[in-house]
Amino acid sequence: MATINDNYLKLKAGYLFPEIARRVKAFTESNPEGAAKLIRCGIGDVTEPLPEACRQAMHDAVDELGDSSTFRGYGPEQGYDFLRDAIVENQYAGLGISADEVFVSDGSKCDTGNILDIFGKGNKIAITDPVYPVYVDTNVMVGNTGEADESGAYEGLVYLPCTAENNFVPTIPEEDVDLVYLCYPNNPTGATATRQQLEEWVAYAKERNAIILYDAAYEAFVQDESVPKSIYEIEGAKDCAIEFRSFSKNGGFTGVRCAYTVVPKSVTGTDGKGEKHPLHPLWSRRHSTKFNGASYPVQRGAAAVFSPEGKAQVGALIKGYMENAALLRETCEKLGLPVYGGENAPYVWVGCPDGIDSWGMFDRMLEKANVVITPGSGFGAAGEGYFRISAFNSRENVEEVCRRITENLG
Ligand SMILES: *Cc1c(COP(=O)(O)O)cnc(C)c1O
Repeated sequence: MATINDNYLKLKAGYLFPEIARRVKAFTESNPEGAAKLIRCGIGDVTEPLPEACRQAMHDAVDELGDSSTFRGYGPEQGYDFLRDAIVENQYAGLGISADEVFVSDGSKCDTGNILDIFGKGNKIAITDPVYPVYVDTNVMVGNTGEADESGAYEGLVYLPCTAENNFVPTIPEEDVDLVYLCYPNNPTGATATRQQLEEWVAYAKERNAIILYDAAYEAFVQDESVPKSIYEIEGAKDCAIEFRSFSKNGGFTGVRCAYTVVPKSVTGTDGKGEKHPLHPLWSRRHSTKFNGASYPVQRGAAAVFSPEGKAQVGALIKGYMENAALLRETCEKLGLPVYGGENAPYVWVGCPDGIDSWGMFDRMLEKANVVITPGSGFGAAGEGYFRISAFNSRENVEEVCRRITENLG
């Protein structure tokens, strides 16, 4: 008799995006005219084509694989040196991170979930509310939670509310937690954490022997020079933090797939006997046992992000998305709505008008403006009363969205 992992039965059926799809389908079927005009600003996926430098590097790499003198088979599981070195040189210069502390993978979604393989049972997990749902569901799957209540909150998780009052950065909890997920710039709120806020979190983690899982997937969107892009800019973070980064949002690699995780050799966890062990060899072992490396052409494409042409092209993509975010911000501000994010992140987080709730706003935008947004409550209870507009779109679409918001919601 094969038994199953009962934890999977605790998972709430993916509610947010299926429910969005259901409502959009119902709308388009009953309203062909609106359907033809529909603009999607919901899902956090890039829209603009891959940078030329990355495409060229991938073409060249494929050609290498087609020639017996340059063919390559399995590569190093942790990633090729050319990419690990380029990452350290371009992303961690002066922060004391070495290339062998960088693990190249096929995505941060996978890494943030897989990292739980190296942690023990019974860790107390803290997540922000609202939150990127992957952190929650992967903890449910490994048994770090109890059942969900009617509101979708899981027993055993520590929810850290992120509200306008705390600028969407969680207040340090009174209680001990063992793992805490922080994501800045944040999806969905678009908020950033200040140096001081991150210093407080690092101090907390060091004092309580906790580990910070820092998701920096949106670091490339930071415009304000005072905002840290890496947790390792904070003194002491190399003893208590793992950082996740991805080529998905800067290089537009959501379909290409390449990311990396930094595990400093000085980060430790405690075994069942109370002895400390570095996490680096555990993650290295996990990575090389269950993963066979990101593909060679993809790693060449990723490395091209750091070439002079690649940097210019990625810079232009980010600039375009951030200009979109500025237009969306301005439009919502003119209507007198509370507007957050969108200044160092490609997401604008907006308070719903007239006391309507997040799903009410979703329907209103769909029916009146034929624009798909994401209801804030879908990311957690503290997201109720907000909606997220993604700046990942063409300029033409964003300008049209701004016109429609102004005409239909003003
Ligand atoms: C998009 C995103 C990522 C990147 O995931 P990939 O698997 O690398 O595409 C990671 N974290 C958050 C919060 C994201 O929104």
